[in-house]
Amino acid sequence: MAKNFEAEILSNEEVAEKIFRLTLAAPELAEISRAGQFVQVKISDEFTLRRPLGIASTAGGRVKIFYRLVGRGTENLSKKKSGERLNILGALGNGFSPCNRKILLVGGGMGLAPLLCAAENYSADVLIGGRTSDEVIFWQEEFRPHVEKIFITTDDGSYAKKGFAIDLLPEVLSAENYSAIFTCGPEIMMRGIAKLAKEKNLPCEVSFEKRMACGLGACLSCSIDTARGRKKVCKDGPIFDAKEVFDYESDNPEN
Ligand SMILES: Cc1cc2nc3c(=O)[nH]c(=O)nc-3n(C[C@H](O)[C@H](O)[C@H](O)COP(=O)(O)OP(=O)(O)OC[C@H]3O[C@@H](n4cnc5c(N)ncnc54)[C@H](O)[C@@H]3O)c2cc1C
Repeated sequence: MAKNFEAEILSNEEVAEKIFRLTLAAPELAEISRAGQFVQVKISDEFTLRRPLGIASTAGGRVKIFYRLVGRGTENLSKKKSGERLNILGALGNGFSPCNRKILLVGGGMGLAPLLCAAENYSADVLIGGRTSDEVIFWQEEFRPHVEKIFITTDDGSYAKKGFAIDLLPEVLSAENYSAIFTCGPEIMMRGIAKLAKEKNLPCEVSFEKRMACGLGACLSCSIDTARGRKKVCKDGPIFDAKEVFDYESDNPEN
């Protein structure tokens, strides 16, 4: 059940170029949140629409969020100082499935945010993909206390292995028996991961991002077609079984 919270900002700092980590004192929200869920942040009265952001950590009664500065909303959010209060609505969406065997988390860019929360709650390894060293090193530090192994790729080869996360995935999968893959990032990346997971007979859950308005399932602006009909990313998702969203599309080339 989503609730409104007035959360105090404990810190709001730039951890890489145009990427911010926002830490909120929100014990009740932390208590009710599940990995894979998100919040709707009210930026200020100037903005009619709230902005959806993934819950990246709930440890110690603090809710951590990572956001990339892309437009006016996130720009305004980046100016907020510790001690200020922020109105947030959460926890929203369905979250990842519970899992008691080791899983592999595969994330690209800001898609790593909800996966960090999964790393806190499940036994996992992580495969991190980013454009540059600046975009992956802080993630490595965030994930380190929660996972056994960390694999990293950068598009430009400035850190770890050069290439995309999907290029390294076959090697990672051949070295360990994972029970499932959870992925979040650019759709093209998730589609490739889902295809490989299917070939290996591994369950795969994907976290979808779609522009949305209400975040509560009322406005239908984030609806997508799936094998089980039209679904709302905000309420039925953002986590979907990969087979439900990608197989459907490959079977229906016009979609
Ligand atoms: C369920 C969900 C979880 C999300 N979690 C995170 C997160 O953890 N960290 C994070 O940095 N971002 C996340 N996003 C994306 C984030 O909501 C947008 O980047 C943000 O709302 C942009 O607001 P803005 O006012 O700064 O930009 P706007 O001025 O609204 O838009 C600026 C640019 O960003 C693009 N954009 C805006 N919203 C989205 C979106 N939903 N998907 C793709 N492109 C978009 C616009 O097309 C435009 O090009 C999430 C989105 C969803 C739906």
